[in-house]
Amino acid sequence: MAVRLTTNGPILDMPSIRRWLRSKRPKNRAANVQGTDAATATSATSGGYISIRGVSKTFIGRNAVVEALSAVDLDVADGEFVSVIGPSGCGKSTLLMLLSGLDLATTGTIRVGGKLIDRPTSDLGIVFQQDVLLEWRTALENILLQAEIRGSDKKAAMGRATNLLAMVSLEGFAAAYPYELSGGMRQRVAICRALLHEPPLLLMDEPFGALDALTRDQLQIDLLRLWSKQKMTVVFVTHSIPEAVFLSDRIVVMSPRPGRIEKIIKIELPRPRRLSLRETPEFLGYNQQVTGVFKTLGVLRDEV
Ligand code: ADP
Ligand code: MG
Repeated sequence: MAVRLTTNGPILDMPSIRRWLRSKRPKNRAANVQGTDAATATSATSGGYISIRGVSKTFIGRNAVVEALSAVDLDVADGEFVSVIGPSGCGKSTLLMLLSGLDLATTGTIRVGGKLIDRPTSDLGIVFQQDVLLEWRTALENILLQAEIRGSDKKAAMGRATNLLAMVSLEGFAAAYPYELSGGMRQRVAICRALLHEPPLLLMDEPFGALDALTRDQLQIDLLRLWSKQKMTVVFVTHSIPEAVFLSDRIVVMSPRPGRIEKIIKIELPRPRRLSLRETPEFLGYNQQVTGVFKTLGVLRDEV
């Protein structure tokens, strides 16, 4: 009997659903999840620094089964800046959770730097829409939290934190408490905290979504400066088409749920990118290209 996945209609009983999910797993996955040698070995697989193969994610809740992601294949090169854009609920945050190992795919495999992601990994930085700073710690102390948790050398961490603050023009605010900072400044501190241990990978989930337009523009420039200095790989989730075009080497356009990769668009605009770039026909052309994909998908409609 076919299992129908739906959020509203009747749902089959859990054992059938679990059997169906098991049948979708690749044969070697069970061993990998248990953390055998094969799972932890560095693989010489082809593909990028990040290699996502046949990844799907299905959430089984009490009343509903939600297929969040379906058959995602993606390679990201070392040092690349890739944005993921798509309508709400298409699985963007889920994809970042799977990349971080905080959640596991239902099917498929993810490798970062050749290593299979089958558990939470600490070799990355994450920035969310909310800055989640600790209100009782100064900006500097919030950044240094990263080093305290990792038990890394305090003096070296202090030097790096000071440098990072300077790179985002916050050198005068090391001793300020979060309540003394604007939304944009707080988010800069959160980014510095995520980068303190110089992670090779930075995951960002709509990091500028709560900021006003001018602050957002400035943070985009700040982020590109940090990226060009630290040379990490960035996977950046956003709802904003111009933001994705401005920042990225490539844009991954997702379909509505269950999220699939609808199109990958290479952004061949020169770097370093300056705000004036946004007035050029080339920039507007890329915006139209992404908008066109969403129109085709029915996510954007023109009629009034
Ligand atoms: P996006 O970030 O693109 O808005 P999400 O990745 O947050 O989308 O969610 C994709 C879909 O999966 C949504 O329908 C959401 O409700 C569902 N979902 C996400 N996380 C869970 C969870 N832990 N349990 C059940 N459903 C979830
Ligand atoms: Mg999200």
